[in-house]
Formats: sequence, C-alpha cells, structure tokens
Amino acid sequence: MFKILLVSPPFCDFYATGARNEPLGLLYIRKSLEGMDGVEVHLHDSLLSGRKKRLKTPSEFDYLEEIYCEDRSLFSLLNGFYRFGDSCGGIIGRIKSGGYDLVGVSCMFTGYYPDAEKLISLIKKETGSLVVAGGWAVDAGGTRLFEKSRADFFLVGAGEHSMPLLAGALMGDMKLEDVPGLIYRCGGAVRSVPPAQWAVPDYFPGRMDFYRWNGKRIAKMITGTGCGHACPFCAVGRYRKRSARGLDSIDRELGYLSSAGVEVVDFEDDNIFSDPETAPALLRILKNHHAGGISYAAMNGMTASNIRGRVNDIIDAGFIEINLSLVASGLFRARPFGTDVIDEIVREINGRVKTIVYLIAGLPGSSPADLMSDIIHLAALPVTIGISPLYLLPGIPDLEKIGLPENHALCRGSALYKFGDGFSREDVASAWKFVRMINRVKAGPDGSVEEYSENLHYFRKSIREKTWHRKLKNGNWARGFSFGIDLPENIDIMTCDGRMAGFK
Ligand code: SF4
Repeated sequence: MFKILLVSPPFCDFYATGARNEPLGLLYIRKSLEGMDGVEVHLHDSLLSGRKKRLKTPSEFDYLEEIYCEDRSLFSLLNGFYRFGDSCGGIIGRIKSGGYDLVGVSCMFTGYYPDAEKLISLIKKETGSLVVAGGWAVDAGGTRLFEKSRADFFLVGAGEHSMPLLAGALMGDMKLEDVPGLIYRCGGAVRSVPPAQWAVPDYFPGRMDFYRWNGKRIAKMITGTGCGHACPFCAVGRYRKRSARGLDSIDRELGYLSSAGVEVVDFEDDNIFSDPETAPALLRILKNHHAGGISYAAMNGMTASNIRGRVNDIIDAGFIEINLSLVASGLFRARPFGTDVIDEIVREINGRVKTIVYLIAGLPGSSPADLMSDIIHLAALPVTIGISPLYLLPGIPDLEKIGLPENHALCRGSALYKFGDGFSREDVASAWKFVRMINRVKAGPDGSVEEYSENLHYFRKSIREKTWHRKLKNGNWARGFSFGIDLPENIDIMTCDGRMAGFK
C-alpha cells in the first residue's frame, strides 16, 4: 500500500482568522486519491485543534516593536506573536508512526511559506518520507522557490487533478515528466512540467471534522474556481481562468452538508455569481437549502458588480453577511467596479444583513489621500470597514516593482514591510488604527461610558499631535509612534443600524 498523508501546516503570526481555516483544497485532494488502487490517504489538519501558543516575536519583526506593543485602547493594533495549530513535533510523530511514503504539505500564503518550509525540512530530516508541496505560494514561487526548498516535489496548479498522477508516477505507473505542474530534480538539475488548465471537479469532498463560527457548524465550499478579471495586485486571474461547477453537483453537496448538520456554508470562490446566466438558478438552489436550515457567507469577498440587481435574492437565499472587496477606489480602471457600485449595493442591502467592505492599504497606484478618502466614504455608510495592509506576492509585476523581501515571512500583511510610493509603514498602521476606532463607533460603546469617552479623548489628541497614545495595563496612557498621514479629527460615521455618529 502507498501511504499518503496530507498536511495543513501550523503557521506563526500576530493574528489568525479562525473561521477560514478548513483546508478545502486538501479535502478535494483526499477525495481524488481515495478511489485509487493501492493508495491509502489520510489528512492531518493542524489548525483543527484550535491550539495557540505564545512565542517570542522573531527578531526579523523587531522593526514593528513600536507599532505592535502593549495597548489596551479601543484603537490598538496587534500585540503578541503566536503559533496557530499543532506543533511540528506532533506532526513528525504522526508521520513516523504512520510510515507514510509521501507527505503533501499545503502552502497557501507566501508570507507563511517559511513556516511550511520549516516543517518540510523537519520531515526530510527526521522521516524517510518523500515530500510534495502545493498551493498558492508554490504557484507564485515556482522553480525559484523550489531551488531553495528541501521538498522533493512542487505541484503547481490544481492538486486534485495532479496528485493522483504524481502518486501513480511514484508507484511506477507513469513517468514524472508526464505529471502536469510537477517541479522536481533530475541528475542535480531542476525540471518543471507545464501545468494544465483543469475544469473544477463535479465531485465534492466528504467531511469528518467541522469548524465552528459564532457557535455554528461551518463548512467551506466553492461554486467554481478562478476569475476572468486581471486586477493588477491579484494572482487569481493570472493563474486560473474561471471554471464553474455544475449546479447539480452544488445541489448535492449542499444536501450532504445539510445532512451533516452544517449551519453555515462559506463560499470561498474567487468570483461567485460571476455568470449572469446561471446565477438565478444557483440562488434558487441556495434558497431551497436555506429552507432546510443552511445560511451562507462568502468571506473571501464578492465582486460587487456581480451582485448588482440581485441583492434581494441573495438575502432571500440566506446570506447572513455580505463581504464586498472595494480594495482601492483609485484603481477603478483596473477593477471590475468602483465606489458607485458599492454605494448602490449598500443602498439595496439597506441594513438587512451585516456588510463588510474591504480595502487594501498601501497599494501601488493609490495614495494615502485616496485611502483616506475611501475610509471616510465608507465611514458614512452602514457598513463595517475591513482594512488589510498590503501583502506582497511574487510574480505580480506591480508588487515585484516595490521590491520583494528575500525573507518571504515579510510578505504577510501584518509585517507592514513595504508599500506603494507615498505610503510609510506608520501611515498604513495609522490608517488601520483610524478604521479600528470608526468600527468601534459603528458598533456602539462596549464597556462603560467613561471608558469610551476617555478613549475618544486620547484618540482625538493622538490625531492632533500626530503621535499615537496607548493605554497601559495600569490604566495610564503613554506616547507611542508618530505618523505623517493627515487624519481628520472628526468625520460623519453611520452606525451599522443607520444612526449618525462621530468621534464625539
Ligand atoms: S476580481 Fe477579485 S479575484 Fe478577480 S482578479 Fe480581481 S481581485 Fe482577483
């Protein structure tokens, strides 16, 4: 028997978004291998345990010391560095005791690749297993990344198609050079086989374990893969053209998830509802299953132009949250829509479901003034603002021009490493703090009125002095880092339930 273990590895960062950790790609790969003669496959999801361990912040992040520090104010950022998921030692123990021939490690984010590589190196050092790595970080890094990796193979592209072929090749059924997307070494040289464009499978993976979100059983799902757009900061449209799943298959998977007690399905599509022909039928299917108890979200974000004129149907179908990715309105020519479409959608939603609109701070082609104008615009709408500092990706010309760090750990958003022209690290961090306070005002005071007023006082004082004040454990306030971006001392803020407010 050829034994394969698929591993969703732990990662280390200042924060984690727990709701989106289910390893859907590995679940698909497991399903694709389950029917193969002579193959036994298992999955180790390191994040399912929910383990979180505080670590000493690595010295590579020393430059963030003044930005991520002790702060108990309502406009604080991050503080503390953690490992999320199981320890590498536990995973190595499982590989050794299971006697696996091949270990597949998913590497979904370039910024977390060094954590995955650490695990790969340990597997190579301490076990006799072959290692294959795949996922978006591998797609983006390609042979450049492979040359420095201890992995035996990289698989670029859709693993649910190519992993069975790699397993077949390793069992002697075909040659390595016939496995699309494979990167490997041969006689000391690195070789790569061009990846193929595969259609999204119509089968779906079984689940044995479930994550919870707001106390509810949640599962990830897709209605298709890829995207037909080519936004200048995004890898998706570059690597994967849109491929939609059959509606019958979606219907069957929702029936299966419903019978498994799933209460919320999170669509992780890159471009859900992108096909106007099938969107009405898809919505009818979702609505049928909503009647059976399933609600929906699309936390990876919806393209606002895809849902114009469909908002009522989307809410009727059972969406309990609408996530829209504005990104940066200054880039509207390179994006499928601008602020006007966001305004139209938010008007149609009319406060009926929680709405989050996402911005990326520090994108090349935008400016601090553009970012502030977007923040102020969104502050006056009944939405929560989601702001992500720019994360750097190899292979995207606009981002490569900024100068990618040799150490990929610095590519993650929380590293606040480098931005487009005009943005300093302190400015991006300050815009982020500004948004934190706006969202607090939108949500309403949490705690005593005195504490809320004290926070607003120091928030406004920080803006006037262009130096942040932070609240210490003993209740005193101390001066923090300074910034240059112009932040208004007061703006119009609409709360999520439609009341007007401000920083008063
Ligand atoms: S629409 Fe979204 S998924 Fe498609 S290329 Fe643009 S950012 Fe990427």
